[in-house]
Amino acid sequence: MTDAYSTAGAPPAALPQTRHLATAIPGPRSRALHQERQANVSDGFGIVLPVFIERADGGILQDVDGNRLIDFASGIAVTSIGASHPRVRERVSAQLERFTHTCFMVTEYQSFTEVAKWLNQHTPGDFEKRTALFSTGAEAVENAVKIARSATGRSRVLVFDEAYHGRSLLTMAMTAKENPYRLNFGPFPAEIVRAASANPLRPAAQHDGGVPASAAEVTAAALASVEATLAEHGPENFAAMVIEPIQGEGGFVVPAPGFLTGLRAIADRHGIVLVIDEIQAGMGRTGTLFASDHEGVAGDITLSAKALAGGLPLSAVTGRAELMNAVHAGGLGGTYAGNPLACEAALAVFKAFEDGSLLANARAIEAAAREVLAPLVAETHAVADFRGRGAMLALEFADRETLAPRADLAKEVAARCHAQGVLTLTCGTYGNVIRLLPPLVIGQDLLADGLQVLRQAVVGVTAEDSNLAAAPAHA
Ligand code: PMP
Repeated sequence: MTDAYSTAGAPPAALPQTRHLATAIPGPRSRALHQERQANVSDGFGIVLPVFIERADGGILQDVDGNRLIDFASGIAVTSIGASHPRVRERVSAQLERFTHTCFMVTEYQSFTEVAKWLNQHTPGDFEKRTALFSTGAEAVENAVKIARSATGRSRVLVFDEAYHGRSLLTMAMTAKENPYRLNFGPFPAEIVRAASANPLRPAAQHDGGVPASAAEVTAAALASVEATLAEHGPENFAAMVIEPIQGEGGFVVPAPGFLTGLRAIADRHGIVLVIDEIQAGMGRTGTLFASDHEGVAGDITLSAKALAGGLPLSAVTGRAELMNAVHAGGLGGTYAGNPLACEAALAVFKAFEDGSLLANARAIEAAAREVLAPLVAETHAVADFRGRGAMLALEFADRETLAPRADLAKEVAARCHAQGVLTLTCGTYGNVIRLLPPLVIGQDLLADGLQVLRQAVVGVTAEDSNLAAAPAHA
């Protein structure tokens, strides 16, 4: 994995693949640019790290002050093959020479069909499929709901605790967490109903009120709660149930084994369209092309976006031909849907995945991270869980006995990583999870360096915390 780029059939990264601190983070130029941003950009946009990027390549983000940061974010799971993969650059540049846009609803171009064909072949499910392309993840989710409603003649949509599906009005209503996603933005579209998810660390209660003790009991309790929710609202009213195979923004929650399979059975029993939102977990992130492959479950509809087009905006709804074709002509579309530059980028991404080395990289990243980070659960009092799959990994900060969330620790760990030149993100309903989403092309040494910085930050922050807890209150 040291030479991940060459194994992926591309030349070595152009930027040095080493962490380098030339100034404090953020540096003076970033600070000045951030001031200008604040004078011009809506405050409604948050910021994880106010650093301005000049170039990005492999596992490195180089800022305007000459700092080289280790990228454990990939622009939120987008630049899996790096932010300037040569194949993406070549294909997009060549397309730029030909034309930038026609609108696929006006006149056609081949790359749209080629992307659809690849997705029809590679998304889970051994049935005839069709694909519709859009630009953002939220658009893909919205269109999946439109398609499921049109095909079933039903209106309700079942979503889950910890879910994240986007920031448009419908997808925001489908998203679980209030602040920051939904706060002050209501009223919301109707017909969205929420059920428990199979969160192994924080499971739904059993019917008798007991707490599930095993993974099998977590799954059983969650599935029973899904059936109860459907019974309450009338299963015959549900067009779709929409689930992330690993919940992303909600905290990198890997559902207890059997949950997705159980949902598949429930959807079949009630004629509900199972929509699997692979927008964050898909496209190789977890070591298989799609995260639902881990349980051998196929959605009737699978959603892709983010890493699909190497940084260009592209999303896809791929599903059973009879569902996808149930919509009247002209019912789907959008001016920029399946933009030709983005389609060319997606074709480059598909090529990069062809020899399997990127999937192997994802698994190698998991092995390396597990070795360094998993022991923190036993070594500290406030890391309750290390979890995830492939290059989608997380540490949850909570009191190990009571599971009281410790967002303060996650925030402080992230801040220390940032100061050391390692870009980490937080997530989770309680904001108490540090998530790792490195590009799949990150080199072994760079990964090891970033993991050590993270480990030291966790060790330092948790040690200081237990010292504080041990000190007398009046000290
Ligand atoms: N679904 C999931 C699972 C996501 O993680 C995201 C983005 N974080 C979305 C949907 C929405 O995608 P976008 O931001 O491109 O609209």
